Amino acid sequence: QKARRIAVLGSRAVGKSSLVIQFCENHFVESYYPTIENTFTKTIKYRGHEFSVEIMDTAGQDEFSILSSHQATNIHGYVLVYSITSKSSFDMIKIIRDKILNYTGMDNVPCIIVGNKSDLNIQRQVSEQEGNELAAQWHCPSIEASAKHNENISKVFDLLIADIEKV
Ligand code: GDP
Ligand code: MG
Repeated sequence: QKARRIAVLGSRAVGKSSLVIQFCENHFVESYYPTIENTFTKTIKYRGHEFSVEIMDTAGQDEFSILSSHQATNIHGYVLVYSITSKSSFDMIKIIRDKILNYTGMDNVPCIIVGNKSDLNIQRQVSEQEGNELAAQWHCPSIEASAKHNENISKVFDLLIADIEKV
């Protein structure tokens, strides 16, 4: 098995923990303590290989979560989560990615842009096209998902593993 480490980052309350728990434990948590930081492990199959994936669910004390430098080492890919109901959470993933590029010293990193809460379409503040355009700019995949309805959640991690393994 190949080991891969993934960090899940984004503004508060966009559904990072819900997404990770839905993926790893197959249930939806209505309320999860916002400052809990946890690591989950799950096996993902990709192109005939088994990956043991360690998923870090981050919880920042500020308006967004960011990794401390010791956490930031050995991360293979990033799930950048916003809520489609929050324009500011969409703007925040740009700031977060800039920070990642800064501390890694790279000009690109494997990541996926996730517009969560796709079930709340009536409250939408970010169009699907805006997500796609940002992904094109960053040369990474993007997807809308709902942790609540378990829609596209496993796809998030499949696409990220594919992005990590490409080249
Ligand atoms: P985090 O701070 O980013 O970890 O966010 P949480 O996972 O704690 O979720 C914040 C709130 O959004 C909680 O009340 C969740 O129940 C809710 N939530 C998370 N994902 C979804 C979703 O896909 N749809 C809806 N409607 N609510 C969600
Ligand atoms: Mg959380």
